Amino acid sequence: MVCSVPNDTQREGLPLIHGTNVSRFFNGKEAIVAVRGLSFGISEGRITAIIGESGSGKSTMLKLIYGLLELDHGEIRYRGWRVPNPREKLIPGHDAMRMVSQGFDDLNTYANVWDNVASQLPNTDLEAKFRNTEQILNRLRIAHLRKQRIADLSGGEKQRVAIARALVNEPEVLLLDEPFNQVDASFRETLQADIRNIVADTGLTVVLVSHDPAEVLSMADELLVLRTGHLVAMGKPVGLYNYPPNAYTARLLAKSNILSKEEAFQLGIKVESEVALHPEWVALRENPDALFKIQHVYFKGFYEELLVGNGQFQIRVINTAPGTFASGIRVDIEIGRFHALH
Ligand code: ADP
Ligand code: MG
Repeated sequence: MVCSVPNDTQREGLPLIHGTNVSRFFNGKEAIVAVRGLSFGISEGRITAIIGESGSGKSTMLKLIYGLLELDHGEIRYRGWRVPNPREKLIPGHDAMRMVSQGFDDLNTYANVWDNVASQLPNTDLEAKFRNTEQILNRLRIAHLRKQRIADLSGGEKQRVAIARALVNEPEVLLLDEPFNQVDASFRETLQADIRNIVADTGLTVVLVSHDPAEVLSMADELLVLRTGHLVAMGKPVGLYNYPPNAYTARLLAKSNILSKEEAFQLGIKVESEVALHPEWVALRENPDALFKIQHVYFKGFYEELLVGNGQFQIRVINTAPGTFASGIRVDIEIGRFHALH
């Protein structure tokens, strides 16, 4: 499906979605930088997650990809063709893409599930309309809710309807803005698994915005990390988690302890840069003569988070055997591994 812009020519050899030096400011001037200088590629048939703190530009980046917002600089191409901006298109939004945003603004609250989804399809082929609606309701496990009004559904069920509605006319790209916010933890994992299965079965491309590391690490094939409108890391979840290129990414993905080289030296780590020390990379051993002391114990169920300090700095440590350490106990710190931030 091609959405074309006058006088545009197709670029060969680009990833499915490709951004070059993309910037967007608000208030006309450069007063509020929403995103600046983003260059990125998003591959076909994969799940790419955009992650960053609140206000880092995630939603803006998603809207720019979809063509809902105009760029101030740079360009975004889809299959090599420039994505039309809202002035260049009667109905804003790229024809090959669908977006599910936060909240359920698109759903008709007083209509039932079936009508909300089926209304996306034309009446020219009623048999296909029936078949495709039934199929996507089944895929999202909401066929049994077909006669229920949206107003009577739970947050998780509404989210499934919103996704079914976006997918029923078979877009090539699904854009999701913090889609699991309103979904209970128990429903969240099955919805995530269902989306992964749809991607595997159909070749759908998903771009997912999130601020939740647990979500993107388990779900995404590729991560794009945003900080105050800048792209500060990109890569596969396992690589970025274990070898974060900067302190921000280490904190965001792993709640990592970021130590100066002087602090690291006090733990026996001799490097010439800051160090990322993930809480699970550290083990503690009780020693009454040790310099470090347990300062707080946060119970988390099957594990504990311990705050350990020596009066100069603190580190966060994961303890998977809750109850072994109490506040005030002195401990030696054993470093299993660390990652130098160059
Ligand atoms: P995120 O989705 O990561 O929380 P956003 O993309 O929504 O971040 O916002 C990025 C920055 O741009 C924020 O500082 C936000 O306040 C600003 N911003 C976003 N949309 C607008 C707007 N329509 N008008 C003015 N500022 C905006
Ligand atoms: Mg947002």
